[in-house]
Amino acid sequence: MDGEKKLITILVPAYNEQEVLDMLYERLKKIMDENTKYDFEVLLVNDGSSDNTLALMQELRKKDKRICYLSLSRNFGKETAMIAGLDYCNGDAVIIIDADLQDPPELIPEMIKYWEEGYDDVYAKRRSRKGETWLKKFTSTMYYKVLQAFTKIQIQKDTGDFRLLDRRCVEALKSIRESQRYTKGLFSWIGYNKKEILYDRDPRAAGKTKWNYKNLINLSIDGITSFTTSPLRWSAILGILVSIVGFIYMIYIIIKTIVSGVDVPGYASTMVVILFLGGIQLIFLGVIGEYLGRAFYETKQRPLYFIDRYNEQKETNKNLNKPRNLL
Ligand code: UDP
Ligand code: MG
Repeated sequence: MDGEKKLITILVPAYNEQEVLDMLYERLKKIMDENTKYDFEVLLVNDGSSDNTLALMQELRKKDKRICYLSLSRNFGKETAMIAGLDYCNGDAVIIIDADLQDPPELIPEMIKYWEEGYDDVYAKRRSRKGETWLKKFTSTMYYKVLQAFTKIQIQKDTGDFRLLDRRCVEALKSIRESQRYTKGLFSWIGYNKKEILYDRDPRAAGKTKWNYKNLINLSIDGITSFTTSPLRWSAILGILVSIVGFIYMIYIIIKTIVSGVDVPGYASTMVVILFLGGIQLIFLGVIGEYLGRAFYETKQRPLYFIDRYNEQKETNKNLNKPRNLL
């Protein structure tokens, strides 16, 4: 009978999460023990933690063979930790969940239920965000608005990475090997049958958040530049408008000079024009630079990550991360 049970992987990216791992295990264990219709595998991804996270993972695996762990060679960031986990998971479905218990594992049975009904991507949307500052809430709302204005793909608001993915979604995500990943957008981009469930996001159980505004700003820019080139188009349109205005002003000056002779004062207007155009040019250079930078990183085709160890095994990385064309 055992072989016929479906396997569900619970994928947990973790970076310096020593305070919460045991708590997380207890909560997950309860869920796994209660849902006997399925086999479970918990894949803990150690994203180059500098504390005891890896040791704790090894400890857990000794206790419970359903726990697997993957340890990356350094800290690569959550986006990369997730794709590493997807590459290594074996489940018919994968549930991605944060280590800090902000996403309640108790939602897992409900996700599975919808998966059995035929949904491929069951994502949990936050009804509330306890323990987050109003500034974080405000910036996040604004960000979704800007992102949505720029791109045609519907990106789910107030939805993190907490979701269940069917195997075919996992394969789809695995086939996307871009190095600056914006997974939240990729979930939408791959399509498939989506189902939303609502939940209350809890405050972090213990430990500190790994995010800061620098990360968030970078991720936001990645989000926009990896999904749309419309900032380039807008730059071009604005450039054309500014040149039209400039051209009209030029005609005006020429005619004025012809009619009323050379007019020396004009320092203020000259400065205004130079500063305004200079500013616009710098901004547009920056926009172009963003895209050029992305192209630069992608053309290198570097492996997305390196693995230090998978369970008891030390990885040699020989066959890992084959270039995109060989996958
Ligand atoms: N995380 C990671 N690598 C990083 C940063 C974070 O794997 O470089 C993991 C972290 O351990 C947690 C999840 O990503 O499981 C979300 O991080 P965090 O709770 O710090 O972010 P927040 O919930 O505050 O957005
Ligand atoms: Mg968190």
